[in-house]
This record gives sequence, structure tokens and C-alpha cells, in this order.
Amino acid sequence: MGQDTDVIALVGAGDQGLEVLRGLLRVPGVEVRYVFDPDPAAPGITLARENGIRCRVDGRFDELAGDAEVGLVLVTGGDPDVLAAVEAARHPDSCLIGAAGARFVARLLAEIADVDARANVEKARYLRQASHQVKSPLSSIQTYVNVILGGYTGEIPERTRDVVEKIHSRCDAALAALAKRRMLADLRCVDPDALEMSPVHLGEVIDEAVGRYAEAAAARGIEIRALPHDAPDLVRCDRTQLLAMTGELLENAVVYSRDGGLVEVALASRHGRLTLSVRDRGIGIPERCLPRIFDEDYRADPAVKHHQDGAGLGLAIAREIAGLHRFDLSVESEEGRGSVFTATMPAAPAS
Ligand code: ADP
Repeated sequence: MGQDTDVIALVGAGDQGLEVLRGLLRVPGVEVRYVFDPDPAAPGITLARENGIRCRVDGRFDELAGDAEVGLVLVTGGDPDVLAAVEAARHPDSCLIGAAGARFVARLLAEIADVDARANVEKARYLRQASHQVKSPLSSIQTYVNVILGGYTGEIPERTRDVVEKIHSRCDAALAALAKRRMLADLRCVDPDALEMSPVHLGEVIDEAVGRYAEAAAARGIEIRALPHDAPDLVRCDRTQLLAMTGELLENAVVYSRDGGLVEVALASRHGRLTLSVRDRGIGIPERCLPRIFDEDYRADPAVKHHQDGAGLGLAIAREIAGLHRFDLSVESEEGRGSVFTATMPAAPAS
């Protein structure tokens, strides 16, 4: 748990509790650690379980007394007996909010989500238009460049070829950046509740992502090794997004490796959680850059020197996808020695 994380316990997982829980799950820096409701079929219990939150469905509140990290207890129902029981059970340092306060919290959360959603939709719409306008001329430039490089306009001197090849690769980079910028904007419009969630084998997604980058890696003498695993690897997610997130981490590991390097992708299962880690022994990230590394448009200076064409968008995309799924995404790195990016997610029960 980070220092700035607010740990919350939610009591009541009916319709009102569900609304509050949905809102809280969208707020960065908030961890809903417990959900209590005597009805195991309450809608909020299902959502909580899907998000790896501890649920108690026997009408008891024992965890509240023992967990001093819970700073806020939100009681969404109006039953005075429940309120009294929670009051008696809660840790003395925690703050208790009853039904009226919880309703108010729900309204605020809904209002914030609405304003954010409208702004994001507007941004994505604008970006779609702008990128359409830029994409066509860029693609045309590439076509002309291919004509020149193909020798259809006559023989080209070696030095001119170098320049034209650079134009080609800068166009490639610009088109790739445009596609990522759009993807990020589109991701920010996704309603987490509308994600197409299904049980997915993480191992298969890793293999597919490795397949996508193997050729680019091999061209620089880099080996991508997917480490063997025999743990259960089912995760509930949007498969396309999980693949995109894994791909971004893998692409970076290759790009920021030195020629001839090794990238390892590992999958592990522990205490109901799956971890996906992507390790390289490349240029690493200076410690001072780590706090901003997942920010949109941010690039560490050694990376700019190593690889000019980066866009500073891949990790923002990975973080957005992780956020939509409530996965944890973290990095450890040492400048000059390499990095390991780790995504942690709840394991789905085998069907
Ligand atoms: P890009 O790689 O296009 O610059 P990203 O958003 O994917 O954009 O990454 C942001 C920055 O994070 C990079 O510019 C680089 O500074 C750093 N970074 C990401 N992955 C790695 C890695 N595996 N090794 C070293 N630096 C990395």
C-alpha cells in the first residue's frame, strides 16, 4: 500500500453500496479493502469479489477492529442495528460515515465521473478528427518515399538514400505515435463496467505478445524468453486490452535493451494473485525519473538518447488498462542495469 492510499471498508452491498463501490473503484489512491453484507448474492459482493476485495457475508465486522489502516468506514444502509454494530466494532482511529453521508459520497462520485467522462469523450472526438487529418498526408508521404526507395524514380545516390530512409522511419514513428495517442484517448472513454470481461489464459496472451515482438528483437540480436510455468493462469479481463498492456511492456523491454540482450517474461501465481513480469537488462531508468515514468508524454533522458523515436505513450496506455481492470502495475529499475515491470491481477477460478 502506498503512503497516500486511503483504505476504506464498505458496509452494505445492495444497490446503494454497489453504486458507491463502483465510484470508489474509479478513484486513484483509494483501496476498498473490505465489503460487508449478510447477503452473499448482493450485487456489490459480486463486484467486490471480481476485484479481489475481501468480503464478509455473515453479518460480522471483526476485521474492522483489527485493521488500523482502515481510515474510513462507509455504511450505506439505514439499519440502526447495523450502524450500532459497526460503531462498536470499528477501530477507534477510523472515521464512520452513515447512510446520509454515504448517499452524498455516491452523488459526488457520480458527478465527478460524469464530468470526467464528458471531457474524455470530447477529447477523443477531437483527436479522432485531428489524427484523421494528419494520418492521410503522412501515409501519402510514406507511399512517395517507398516509390523513391524502390528505385522507380531512378537511381538514388547513397547519401540521399540515407536521408529518404530517415524520412520513412520518422513517418513510421509519427504514425505509430498517432495510433497510440488515439488508443489512449479511447481507453479514457471506456466505462470499466462495460468491459468485455472473460476468463483468459495469461500464458497464451504472453506467447502471443512474444510472437509479435520476436522479429524486431531478433533483428537486434535480442532474445525474448517466456519462462516456463505450470501454475493456473486464468484471469478475468478484456483479452484485447491485456494483450495491448503486455505488448507495451514487452516493446519497451526490447527497445531499451542493448543489442544482443535478453528479455524474460515470467508468470507466477501466489495467494490467488497472478503476476506477469517483464525483465530486461537494458539501459534502466534513473531513480529520479521513476515517479513520473507512467505519465503521458514523459520520457527519461537516457531513453531519449538511446531511442529517438519514442512517444512517451506506451506506459500511459499500460497504466490506463491496468487501472480499468484494477490491476496493480509497478516498476523496479536500476540505471544502466535494467528494469522489471510487474502487473499483478486477481486469479480467476478455473471454470
Ligand atoms: P516510449 O518508450 O515511447 O518513450 P513509454 O510510455 O512506453 O514511451 O515509456 C516511457 C518512458 O519510460 C520511456 O521513454 C523510458 O524513459 C522509460 N521506459 C519504459 N520502459 C523502459 C524499460 N524497459 N527500460 C528503460 N526505460 C524504460
